Amino acid sequence: MKRILGLCGAMFTILLITGCGTDGQIAPRIVGRAAHTVLQPVPVPSNPGSNQTHAPQPVDKNIPAAWYPPPGREKGWKAIVLHHSATHKGSAEKFDDYHKNGKHWKGVGYDFVIGNGNGSGDGHVEVTFRWREQIAGAHVGGTPGNWANEDAIGICLVGDFTKTSPTSRQMNSLVKLIRFLQRRYRIPVGRIYGHSDTPGYKGRTLCPGKNFPMYRLKRML
Ligand SMILES: [Zn+2]
Repeated sequence: MKRILGLCGAMFTILLITGCGTDGQIAPRIVGRAAHTVLQPVPVPSNPGSNQTHAPQPVDKNIPAAWYPPPGREKGWKAIVLHHSATHKGSAEKFDDYHKNGKHWKGVGYDFVIGNGNGSGDGHVEVTFRWREQIAGAHVGGTPGNWANEDAIGICLVGDFTKTSPTSRQMNSLVKLIRFLQRRYRIPVGRIYGHSDTPGYKGRTLCPGKNFPMYRLKRML
């Protein structure tokens, strides 16, 4: 791995090791383990109600307006994939810069980023252009034919959960966000995956880290 990645080299290296996704046709340009483009076709899991764009529900005043997709272009999301940033600090803006200039993607690969107080607010949920525009993500490796990038909502928590754990505010925000998304798209708990447990991509990454409390999260939902 070259050491000419600039001031953020350490972060780049970690992210390349953990490997979170690719974005479109330029994926082969990516170096390191993230370069794998050999894909197994993964059928999209059946999901009762998935043909509906969303369940009709009134606007909830407790939900930030930015979490609601723009009218008229909402996708029928089928799953949720959870990530860590594998960095001590960060924000949607930082990851956008890295994914654009470091990986040559359209921009940040996730739909949502939840800060940890280092680089963005602790528990603060940032909404990215992928969600605002309702376009495929770049958070699970391999395109095209990547069902998870196409049909799963990507949420990244800032932190390296191979070493630390999410903050309580991050967890509370994550629960609130997932509940909202579950209700809107009728996504069952069984369709919420850690990156490393995503069907078709198991064991290809350490993300979201061994300390990510998936069991506790699912009990909180
Ligand atoms: Zn990931």
